[in-house]
Amino acid sequence: MQAPILFTVLPCYNEEAVLHSSIRQMTDLYTSLISGRSIHENSRLLFVNDGSRDSTWSIIEDASSTNPFVCGVKLAKNVGHQNAILAGMETAKEYADVIITIDADLQDDISKIPEMLQKYAEGSDIVYGVKNERKADSRFKRWTAMLFYKLMKLLGVNTVYNHADFRLMSRRAVEVLSRYRERNLFLRGIIPQLGYKTDVIYEDLRPREAGESKYTLSKMMNLAVDGITSFTIKPVRLIFTLGMVFVLLAIIMLIYVLCMVFQGKTVAGWASLMLSMWFIGGCILIGLGIVGEYVGKIYLEVKDRPRYNVEKEIIQ
Ligand code: UDP
Ligand code: MG
Repeated sequence: MQAPILFTVLPCYNEEAVLHSSIRQMTDLYTSLISGRSIHENSRLLFVNDGSRDSTWSIIEDASSTNPFVCGVKLAKNVGHQNAILAGMETAKEYADVIITIDADLQDDISKIPEMLQKYAEGSDIVYGVKNERKADSRFKRWTAMLFYKLMKLLGVNTVYNHADFRLMSRRAVEVLSRYRERNLFLRGIIPQLGYKTDVIYEDLRPREAGESKYTLSKMMNLAVDGITSFTIKPVRLIFTLGMVFVLLAIIMLIYVLCMVFQGKTVAGWASLMLSMWFIGGCILIGLGIVGEYVGKIYLEVKDRPRYNVEKEIIQ
């Protein structure tokens, strides 16, 4: 079998501090993979500039003029990690047999890439990189991530535990993925739904070499909310169940009140009335919020806007 053409997709958002080092490490890896005949010489590194405000794009441009592996896609504005990865994969699938996505800070262990390629050669269409431990992450990040995966599992969303977006996909898997037209993109939830033969490799996460995490708390929250509401309607069902419980309670209350009426003890309790008003009001608001979340999603989904705009492409 001929060596496959590998495109590695690296989303970059304000990554000027690590980019030089990442390009160097990936170039070294590619050189050795090509000389070992594991990948075809037309393999490329595809950097996706996700609307960075620093010199990220000019670094990519400069590198592409001297380094034959370096290609770039410049998105017209910041669309977030998940959409940036998708933009890269959809560009890469035109040229590649196999696509690996990895964060531009190379916190994931790139020395596992040959192992991923091996699994691909053995017939897997999707290979997940799974983190052994999250030693490099802060305690807060570890804790919130764990909570998130547990919650997803509880809600019945099928995700790979401790897998972020370090992943190998064959071209046909990416082609199927791009038929998923949803705008609220949570790749980790969609990809297990594609089917195909999958495998995992285990890796240790490294600390970030330079720069800061680009995943702000609000970006993390958005990802978590997208992950949950895009894949499950359990929260709505929960509200429904709660509603049933309330109706049942109301019936019991009715019996109680009737008994009180017949006994002539009908002194209205102001405190309990006030309390229940607040409580029920709160429940209604929660319900409205959750329903609103879904209505909002439908609204965005029916608009079917493009998920990103490519401004410029360097493919060599
Ligand atoms: N990233 C992106 N768009 C964004 C935020 C992040 O493309 O809006 C990229 C970022 O450049 C990096 C990857 O997503 O390559 C993961 O981000 P980061 O390493 O900051 O997150 P962490 O590893 O701390 O979870
Ligand atoms: Mg990182």
